[in-house]
Amino acid sequence: MGERDRKRKNVDDSKAFEDDDPLALCLSPPSRRPNPLTPHPPLSPPSPGPPQHSFPPPPPPLPPLLLPDFISVPSSAASAPSAAAAAAANPPARPLRARRNPSKAPRGAHKSDTVAPPFSWATDLRATVHSLNHLLSQNITNITGEAQCKRCEASQVISYDLVSKFNEVAAFIRARKHWMHDRAPAEWMTPAFPDCRSCGQPNCMRPVVAAKKRSINWLFMLLGQTLGCCTLDQLKYFCKHTKNHRTGAKDRVLYLTYLALCKQLHPAGPFER
Ligand SMILES: [Zn+2]
Repeated sequence: MGERDRKRKNVDDSKAFEDDDPLALCLSPPSRRPNPLTPHPPLSPPSPGPPQHSFPPPPPPLPPLLLPDFISVPSSAASAPSAAAAAAANPPARPLRARRNPSKAPRGAHKSDTVAPPFSWATDLRATVHSLNHLLSQNITNITGEAQCKRCEASQVISYDLVSKFNEVAAFIRARKHWMHDRAPAEWMTPAFPDCRSCGQPNCMRPVVAAKKRSINWLFMLLGQTLGCCTLDQLKYFCKHTKNHRTGAKDRVLYLTYLALCKQLHPAGPFER
């Protein structure tokens, strides 16, 4: 059924509704007012011939439609007075359109547990990276990521040595964990950045945080200790998918993100909350 046909059908439906409007019927003289509670007589099946006194055999079901994925017509719709009504009861356009635009699906629907790993150091689980042992066994010793100057907007790929940068983060946590009280310190909340090679501005090469959360370069920002560039929403996404408590202010969720990432890299390390 074409778009114009569907519109015309809707107009017909609304007219039929107006005819049955009980408010409109109340305005007519009482003698001509039918009782709205009286049910309409049941519709008789279409019959081209004269009225019959014996019950006619049920009409044959409509032939199956040839559209793939078309939902089969239920028997009640098949015995409806017209084929148009049967089609209206089961319009094929809506499910087909939903499949053509999967991005329009409700949020959270059909979200798979696994994703294509966005980096060689990431697993196929959301917000999860491989352990140090695994990465070193795969000869992955440098972690790269994109950064952009806050002033001149020049982009640059930055590379961190995996082991030495991880040891920096681990030493920071080991030395200060006892008085962090489950909250990120100022150094993590307001990260320091490398200088820009293009314009020379110090402390301005911010990591580029992917728009899609599943593609965020978590390990790159852990090693640069720049996870504080993430929004609260992005950090909550990380905590949600790593089964961490995820309510609270940003300093609390940021702290949890640092510890959880360190735990992923070094499961036996001192990174319990
Ligand atoms: Zn710059």
